[in-house]
Amino acid sequence: MREVTETELRACFVNATPRELDQLPIPGLHETIWAEREYLGWRDPHSSRLGYMVLWQGDRLVGLVVRAAPGGMRPGIAAMCALCHSTQPATQVRMFSARLAGPGGDTGSSIGTYICEDLSCSHIIRTGPPHLLNRDRIASRAEGLHGRVTGFAARVERALREALDG
Ligand SMILES: [Zn+2]
Repeated sequence: MREVTETELRACFVNATPRELDQLPIPGLHETIWAEREYLGWRDPHSSRLGYMVLWQGDRLVGLVVRAAPGGMRPGIAAMCALCHSTQPATQVRMFSARLAGPGGDTGSSIGTYICEDLSCSHIIRTGPPHLLNRDRIASRAEGLHGRVTGFAARVERALREALDG
């Protein structure tokens, strides 16, 4: 993804409440390898449930505040992240929901999907046994992840528009 500045980051969230924006933890942007990110995802160090996802939709930066479902899945089974399609132990995949909230308040609805627990799909698709990590394979996983994460953000934005208009 293209590089993002802190100013852009603070202005891009489409479903954050003013309070969430006030308390937004900024991730280490200088250490980020942008060429190896399909979206920027991070968890809130001060909240066990909050997470943030930021991505480009064309020229527009879109940020989503997401909440992890409490509890998580049963340990011992395998689960698949709906964005990067990596299969992992179930404890490393969580249901995250983007609330349909805006400056005017919370509509009470949300849109959710299963995502890697630390919102680091871009890292996950680039790690693994060396024989599975050739350049073509990473490129095709990256393309799949990029398509699914932009689709998810578009779905949230569409629902948000409908919820706030209606
Ligand atoms: Zn993932």
